[in-house]
Amino acid sequence: MRQIIIIGSGPAGFTAAIYAARAGLEPLMFASSVGIGGELMNTTEVENFPGFPEGIQGPELMQKMQEQAEKFGTEVVYDDVTDLDLDGDVKRVTSSDGVVHEAAAVIYATGSAYRKIGAPGEEKLTGHGVSSCATCDGFFFREQTIAVVGGGDSAMEEATFLTRFASKVYVIHRRDELKASKIMQQRAFDNEKIEFIWNSEVASIEGESGVTGMTLRSTVDGTESNLDVTGVFVAIGNDPRTHLVHGKLDLTDVGTIAVDGRSSRTSVEGVFAAGDVIDPTYRQAITAAGSGTVAALDAEHYLAAREQAAVSVGASA
Ligand code: NAP
Repeated sequence: MRQIIIIGSGPAGFTAAIYAARAGLEPLMFASSVGIGGELMNTTEVENFPGFPEGIQGPELMQKMQEQAEKFGTEVVYDDVTDLDLDGDVKRVTSSDGVVHEAAAVIYATGSAYRKIGAPGEEKLTGHGVSSCATCDGFFFREQTIAVVGGGDSAMEEATFLTRFASKVYVIHRRDELKASKIMQQRAFDNEKIEFIWNSEVASIEGESGVTGMTLRSTVDGTESNLDVTGVFVAIGNDPRTHLVHGKLDLTDVGTIAVDGRSSRTSVEGVFAAGDVIDPTYRQAITAAGSGTVAALDAEHYLAAREQAAVSVGASA
């Protein structure tokens, strides 16, 4: 049986792994079969992670975190978790090959998933002109006119990045004011290739094998208009990935995993949660990393107390 299994390989998971491994707990990490590294793998330049004054590419940062975690003894498995049995003293984690892995403690750090608009055409055209990852798909839109939906930092980042390829980028936002930080807003405002379409939501996305246009609806008076684009990037935020723990761990009103105060302790003893999956507010790489630290320290204390209790029982027997 393992001491700790970590589920998720973003900044929270890897930081938890670094701490747990350095504490000699030899963690096993499930890093996903396709998406190791989490959201930062889809980011370009990360300028606000302390220690990198010149900035660092998201994938490079994640690779360094992985190297650091493995250097101290983390075993990283490129597989998905399909089921969890969290009751009792021994936690059971089933991977996609059907193997059941046992551990005394679990750190759940699965991050969040891209939110969808829910407009007709979006689902069908995802991967065929509709995307949530400018870094992955921007290259396909050279000299084309495309749209980015959203008004937060992600939308500004995606729009700015996409101007490297596209000839024109519309940013469609449902209000007349952005949610993004001032510096990201200014960068987008200063970019001649970006044009903002305010107070508008997506009514539908048109096309058969690729995007041919979209219909916008005014959030002020409901009038509809057409926009000729060949690509749509959806950047309207993320939702915590909690599907594996529904009915097993308590969730908050906003759908994140509930933890005890500032700790990472979930509603089930021996199960700890960290990163975007517990955080509806800050959701930064550095806060996720800090949260991963908290989870590793909480798990370490839990395991030490457990061992101490076992020794006491043994001594009194
Ligand atoms: P976000 O801050 O939650 O912003 C989501 C945006 O999408 C908001 O403008 C929101 O509109 C809009 N939106 C939400 N649901 C919508 C819907 N159904 N239809 C149309 N528009 C919708 O999400 P985010 O931009 O992904 O950022 C998430 C976190 O990551 C933030 O903390 C952000 O600072 C951070 N981040 C940082 C960087 C960076 O520093 N380099 C880059 C990316 C993200 P309203 O404004 O009307 O709510």
